[in-house]
Parts: sequence; C-alpha cells; structure tokens
Amino acid sequence: MQALEERIRKDGVIKEGNVLKVDSFLNHRMDIELINEIGREFRRLFPDKSINKILTIEASGIGIACITAQYFGCPVVFAKKTQSINIDGEVYSTQIKSFTHNRTYDVIVKKAFLSPDDNILIIDDFLANGCALLGLIDIVKGSGASIAGAGIVIEKGWQNGGELVRSRGIRVESLAIVESMSVENGIVFRHEQTV
Ligand code: 5GP
Repeated sequence: MQALEERIRKDGVIKEGNVLKVDSFLNHRMDIELINEIGREFRRLFPDKSINKILTIEASGIGIACITAQYFGCPVVFAKKTQSINIDGEVYSTQIKSFTHNRTYDVIVKKAFLSPDDNILIIDDFLANGCALLGLIDIVKGSGASIAGAGIVIEKGWQNGGELVRSRGIRVESLAIVESMSVENGIVFRHEQTV
C-alpha cells in the first residue's frame, strides 16, 4: 500500500533492537484518514462476505480493528492481556511473548464472544516473530471458529513470523513488508529488494 509505505519512510523511526517506531501516525497518535484507507484495503483484500468478526489484541490493534470493522459491518473482539487467568472455564486463554516489552502475558477472550459459526479476520499492527498472531490463532482454534486470514499493517520481513504463520496454511496479508531497515540505509520494502 503506497500511502502507507510513504508514511513509514517519512515518519517511521528506526530504534535499537529491531523496533520500528510508528507512534506518530499508527499506534499512539493515530492518523484516522490513513487508518481509514488501511481498513478499506483490508476489505479489498478480504472480500469474503462470510467474515463476521474481527479479532485483535490490546492495545495497539484495537483502533485499527475498529476502523476496519466498519468496512466489514461486523463487531470487534479484542484479546485482553491479564495478570491472572480466571480458571472458571469462561475464557479461552493463551500465552504471548511480547516482542516490544520482552515479557510473557496471559491473554484471554471470553468464550461467549467466539463461536464455531464465526469466520474470523485477525487484525494487528505489526508482525515480527509471530507470537501475537500465533496466540490469537490458538484462541480462535480453541473456539472452533474458522480463520479467514490475518490482516497486518506492517510486517517485518526479516523476522520469521510471516513464514511461520503462512506455513500453517493461514492467509496473511501485510500492507507493508519491511525487508530491512538500518539507520545507514533506511527502510527497504520487500518489493524494492534488488536480489
Ligand atoms: P510478534 O508477536 O509478531 O513478535 O510481534 C508483534 C507484536 O509486537 C505487535 O502486536 C506489536 O504491537 C509489537 N511489535 C513488534 N515489532 C514491533 C515494532 O517494530 N514496532 C512496534 N511499534 N511494535 C512492534
């Protein structure tokens, strides 16, 4: 998605530890016009009319998922990060290792909000090592719902999350795939790669 790539190049900040900061337009201050285009693009890529729910994870995924959901006419469910899992059997739970915070969270979704009749689109801001996405997939599988695919705003192509998830037969559509980034050479998107 060209407008997104241009924005990443203009306002993305390359930080230590393989982190791309996009908090000036995506996940702290949010450029709603751009996110609206992102939502429209996800709809174009996933035209399947049977998609009836969007699943994301707090916090950064929520805003993007909500705007996207308006193009799908469906509700959003977000997985909650929690300190303590309630063991009354009312929630699906999994563990997710956070890439940016280097810690592991228990993540839950109330069972009543997912059903085997659902066809779910997963949305998230970043795909890096794939822990967040694999955790969400785990939760959906536990519920017996179908997975229409995953819509990712920015995939970091040199980390192996994309490969891991695609190798499980899940369709992953990333609107921008950063193939490499460094302060010296800037950002190279996958389609610009020379070799
Ligand atoms: P993964 O679980 O695939 O390793 O990482 C995905 C999650 O970590 C996303 O939900 C996102 O919030 C966060 N994340 C991973 N890499 C980056 C990054 O380079 N920049 C930012 N801002 N968040 C990231």
